[in-house]
Amino acid sequence: MSKKKIIIPVILVVTVAGIAGILFYTCYHRWDNATCTTAKTCSICGKTEGKPLGHNWTEATCEEPRTCSSCGKTEGTVLGHNWEKATCEIPKTCSICGKTQGHALGHELGAYTVVKEATCSEEGRKEAVCFRCQKTIMESVDKIAHTPGKWEVKEDYSISAQAIITPGEQVKKCTVCDKELESKEYMIELSTSQRNAVLKAYQEVQNWHCGRDFLINDVLVGFNGYSLEDATFAVDHIDVDWDHQAILYAKENGVGESENKITEMMQYYGFNQDQIAEALKEIGY
Ligand SMILES: [Zn+2]
Ligand SMILES: [Zn+2]
Ligand SMILES: [Zn+2]
Ligand SMILES: [Zn+2]
Ligand SMILES: [Zn+2]
Repeated sequence: MSKKKIIIPVILVVTVAGIAGILFYTCYHRWDNATCTTAKTCSICGKTEGKPLGHNWTEATCEEPRTCSSCGKTEGTVLGHNWEKATCEIPKTCSICGKTQGHALGHELGAYTVVKEATCSEEGRKEAVCFRCQKTIMESVDKIAHTPGKWEVKEDYSISAQAIITPGEQVKKCTVCDKELESKEYMIELSTSQRNAVLKAYQEVQNWHCGRDFLINDVLVGFNGYSLEDATFAVDHIDVDWDHQAILYAKENGVGESENKITEMMQYYGFNQDQIAEALKEIGY
């Protein structure tokens, strides 16, 4: 009876131990990867394989201690910056890592000497010496203001044969550098006598083919009775090519005439030397 009581538990222990042994040797391992400090390990049975990887150290810098780039473990302390003093032009700077702090001091300048005076078209230059670093510092001097002159006509208005005005342009220039500072339309209102003088000038220049002065003095003033002022205004604002008028005159009146006679007639009709010479050439002289 007592022998049997002992034999049964022994058989159970041997059986369990046998099964555990079989399981241990036939384990389907579940491996965890190796780390810096542990080898590849089975999470079920604890079996290991190979060696730990070891740390992958990055050396200490001014601001970071020696650090493992794989696991982040640190060792020792930071090196600390090696500061060099700020100068006029460079802020406080670490000679190891190049980090800066604060601002450059800026120069401490003495009195300026003007090297070149500024004008309205060009900047000037001045220089001064720094008390601290002895450097000569150049600076530009702003341009000065332009000197506006009076309004002047850049492009005159013109008046058509129907007395319709095309505006011109007026500009205000700097009297020093000649730059155009302002611009506006150049336009007038015609008085009745100006308007009629213009219409008459366009008609007469077709009839007469004469020069400017003859059209003003003999035709508009002498023959049509306009004032010298209105006549001059009209003739100077009509669209007419006086050189071409000279040629038309010579062609119409030069037939059978001598060079001297044509020259005399053309002078009488208000043409100048150049216009007469050109016209004579056109008709073969
Ligand atoms: Zn295992
Ligand atoms: Zn590590
Ligand atoms: Zn540093
Ligand atoms: Zn300085
Ligand atoms: Zn100017």
